[in-house]
Amino acid sequence: MGDRAVFTFSPGPAIMPNSVLEQLAESIIDYNGTGISIAEVSHRSREYTGSDSTRGIFPHTRTAFKELLNVPDNYEIIFIGGGASSEFGNIVRNLVPKGGLAQYINTGNWSQQAYSTAKVFEDGGLVQRIESIGGIEEIDDLKTLRQIPPGEINPDAAFVHITPNETIGGIQYQTFPNTGKVPLVADMSSEIFTREFGINDFGAVYACAQKNFGLPNLSVVIIRKDLLGDVLPGTIPVEDYKTLAEKDSAINTPPVVEIYTAGLIAGYIKEQGGVEEMARQADERSGLVYRAIDKSNGFYISPVQPGVRSKLNIPFLLKDKSLEDTFKQEAKNEGLLELGGHRSVGGLRASMYVGMQIKGAEMLAHFMQYFAVKHG
Ligand code: PMP
Repeated sequence: MGDRAVFTFSPGPAIMPNSVLEQLAESIIDYNGTGISIAEVSHRSREYTGSDSTRGIFPHTRTAFKELLNVPDNYEIIFIGGGASSEFGNIVRNLVPKGGLAQYINTGNWSQQAYSTAKVFEDGGLVQRIESIGGIEEIDDLKTLRQIPPGEINPDAAFVHITPNETIGGIQYQTFPNTGKVPLVADMSSEIFTREFGINDFGAVYACAQKNFGLPNLSVVIIRKDLLGDVLPGTIPVEDYKTLAEKDSAINTPPVVEIYTAGLIAGYIKEQGGVEEMARQADERSGLVYRAIDKSNGFYISPVQPGVRSKLNIPFLLKDKSLEDTFKQEAKNEGLLELGGHRSVGGLRASMYVGMQIKGAEMLAHFMQYFAVKHG
C-alpha cells in the first residue's frame, strides 16, 4: 500500500493506519501461515487462546492494552461484542445496586444518550434514580465545561458518569472532574489512546473500537475488580462483567477479527511511541485545523471555547452557510472525505483519531485556507 491519496475524516468507522490494513488484508487470506483466514479462526483454538508455546490473539491484544494504558492488576480488561451504546446499559446493570443511584454529567449528545439509556432501569423500578448534572454552559455563544462543585456529587451514588470527549459537540475535558470517593466512569470512545490518563482515577472506562482501535461492534471495558459482583436482576451472562472477566471475554463466540485488529492497532501505537506520542499527534493534527479556523478572519467559526476544544473531533461552521455543500464537494475532489457535521447539528466536522496521519490534517488545513481565499 503506497501513500494515501484519500483521507476520511469520519467520526467512526474511522481511518486506519496503512500498516494495519496491510496486515489485516494478509490475515484475511491466510492467518499467520495457518492456511485459514483470520475470519475462520475459532475462539477455542490455540491460535486464539494461546498455549504454553504460542501467544494467542486474545492474550496478545489484552496484554498490549494493559501495557499501553498502564493498567494495574487490580483492574480487569474485558472485550465485549457490541458498541459503546450497549455499555450504556451494561454499566448500570453491573455497577448500580438494586434501588441505587447513579449521576451523569451532561456535556452534550453522547453523555445524554448514556443518561437516557440508564433511565430505562429507573423506569423498570430497578434503580432508585438516574440523575443528570449539567456540565456544560455557554459563554459568548460558545460552549464550555462547567466545573462541578463537590456538593453536587451525591456520596451515595454508585458512580458518576462522564463523556470526556463529546464526538458531536467537539468539547473535551482537559482535566477530569474530582468525584471524591464516588467512582468515576468514563465513556472514552472517541479519545482512548489519544491522551494520557491514570486508570486509577476511574472506577471504569469503556470505549467502542471503530474510532481509535479498529472495527465496529467491539468495545473494551476496563474496570476495578472490587466493583465487580452483584448485577441487577435480569442481567444475562454475556452482559455480566464478572463472568466475562472470569471467562476471558469468551462466554459465547467473541468477535475474533475485531479483537485481532485491536491487537494490530495496539502494535501500531506501540511502534509509534505509545500513548504519549499519540497524544502529541492529536495535538499537532488538531492544532493545524484550529489554526486554519482561527486565522480565517471569521470565514470559519468554531462553536467551542478554546480551552475545552476537542483534539479529536473539530466541528466548525462557515460564516456563509450556503457554501457548506460546495465545501464538502470541493474537499471530496481533493480526496478529503466525510467532512459533514453530525445529522443532528449540521455544519462541518473533522474527526481525526489514532489512524489519521499528520499529512491528512495538513492537507485539510491547506484546503481550508485555499477554500477561504477562493470563496471569501
Ligand atoms: N459514545 C461516544 C462518545 C460516541 O462517539 C459514540 C459513537 N459515535 C458512541 C458512544 C456510540 O458508539 P456505538 O455506535 O459503538 O454504539
